[in-house]
Amino acid sequence: LVHAVNVHKAFHGTDVLKGIDMDVAAGEVVTLLGPSGSGKTTFLRCINQLETIDGGRIWVDGDLMGYAEKGGRLHTLNDKKIAAQRREIGMVFQRFNLFPHMTATENVMEAPVQVKGESKSDARKRAGELLERVGMSDRSHAYPAQLSGGQQQRVAIARALAMQPKLMLFDEPTSALDPELVGEVLNVMRELANDGMTMIVVTHEMSFAREVADRVVFMDGGVVVEQGDPRQVISNPQHARTKSFLQRMQ
Ligand code: ATP
Repeated sequence: LVHAVNVHKAFHGTDVLKGIDMDVAAGEVVTLLGPSGSGKTTFLRCINQLETIDGGRIWVDGDLMGYAEKGGRLHTLNDKKIAAQRREIGMVFQRFNLFPHMTATENVMEAPVQVKGESKSDARKRAGELLERVGMSDRSHAYPAQLSGGQQQRVAIARALAMQPKLMLFDEPTSALDPELVGEVLNVMRELANDGMTMIVVTHEMSFAREVADRVVFMDGGVVVEQGDPRQVISNPQHARTKSFLQRMQ
């Protein structure tokens, strides 16, 4: 579903992604691991076109992100077409980024109504179903400030799902949470994975990587150092950089 080839990205002359190749199959759950600054967040943002890439190509479900190929030449897509591509991809951030003046239901309804032009009654009905799926039915009328961090993050997941994305990207979704709230968010993500959602998850939660991911990809210094079966990579890393990272994570 995701096919990334030789992706490069620099900020102010500093190379952050130095040729990332990555394939993610439909229904696969991939966890990105790596030290701070290794480029994990930047790579997710490139997939979702929150950053433009300096080199390489990324396809999502056969669509070349940001470009159209015509007669062997690449043409940059206009903003409208880029927005259409971005709608196919759901993203959940470390900070929940809910609209503070809207209830949980209104947060989940917002994009389907405003972007897809769905009727409010349809969107409200589906928001109810999605909030139920993330275990938030009983707080559907609450505003973000009235919810715990874990609850807000579950609403944020429901909001991303409301656009019926083909792919979900999670950028350290539990790292801003108090430890006792991490489990409820990971459980929602685990169910999503079991339902067959294609997911790329940046996380430091080794239990999630071990138990839920089909594959872990270890990044360091803007390159993929090692990847494979989670249990294999986590318990028996082949590369010195992976070993020292995992030792620090214990
Ligand atoms: P972390 O776990 O800390 O989030 P990461 O692996 O996700 O780390 P990135 O956030 O992708 O790493 O950052 C990689 C490097 O790119 C860092 O050195 C960071 O300072 C730099 N960087 C990221 N975004 C920008 C930006 N918009 N402008 C300038 N530098 C940036």
